[in-house]
Amino acid sequence: MDLGIAGKRALVCASSKGLGRGCAEALAAEGVHLVMNARGAEALEAAAAEIRAAYGVEVVAVAADITTEEGRAKVLAAAGDVDILVTNAGGPPPGMWTDWDRADFIAALDANMLTPIALIKALVPGMIARGWGRVVNITSQSVKAPLAVLGLSNAARTGLTGYVAGTARQVAGQGVIMNNLLPGIHDTDRATALDGGAAKAQGVSVPEARKRREATIPAGRYGTAAEFGATCAFLCSQHAGFIVGQNVLLDGGAVNATI
Ligand code: NAP
Repeated sequence: MDLGIAGKRALVCASSKGLGRGCAEALAAEGVHLVMNARGAEALEAAAAEIRAAYGVEVVAVAADITTEEGRAKVLAAAGDVDILVTNAGGPPPGMWTDWDRADFIAALDANMLTPIALIKALVPGMIARGWGRVVNITSQSVKAPLAVLGLSNAARTGLTGYVAGTARQVAGQGVIMNNLLPGIHDTDRATALDGGAAKAQGVSVPEARKRREATIPAGRYGTAAEFGATCAFLCSQHAGFIVGQNVLLDGGAVNATI
């Protein structure tokens, strides 16, 4: 299927590795020019070079912390007018409900709620002016089914979800389509780190902790960044123009719900 977005420009945040990288790569495969971002310059430049070589698209790489005002200013200055925005950043640390104080919540809200909102506010007006745009926010399955140890994530991402639910409906009539992509467990560095924590808590090896987690997923495996990216590219495509303010769950069936 031709997604009809060749020649468009996309900003994909937090994209040197993992799910962001999967999205960047899937968009590049459709001929979309990219602005990629991550904090670590080395991995980012390497990812940008690989994508340029593989897909022949223009890739601008901006090393910056997207959760800070200075970092966002740097990324937005390099991005200029983009047609597609994929918001993403690292997730908050796990813990117990008793662990977190105001400062922890402010940090999580800054990273996983207020950063995507700031990017939307900066870039969507230009999309509206040009009459076409796509926004995909990478959130988490935790907005549908809470993960108790990720209370900071549950709280911040649900706040973003509420904002997107209203905003998506305000901008859809002006050509801008906004949705959220909700990853369940995917095979990335983040998953390896979570498996490490689970292994310690259960007193088993990391491969054993992974095996136990896989057994809880109807698909029997972790998702891949490539399949996550393919769904993101579809939500950024011409064909997604009637999908408004949705929360698309990619979890191998892990959330046991009818709707
Ligand atoms: P990952 O494999 O750890 O990759 C994270 C990417 O984001 C890296 O490129 C990293 O590069 C970049 N990054 C992290 N913090 C950043 C920041 N402040 N500014 C700019 N770039 C930043 O993580 P992932 O698994 O792809 O997860 C992506 C998001 O999905 C996270 O919010 C995670 O919590 C959420 N999620 C993941 C899963 C899963 O199973 N993987 C499930 C549910 C939700 P640098 O470190 O160099 O900045």
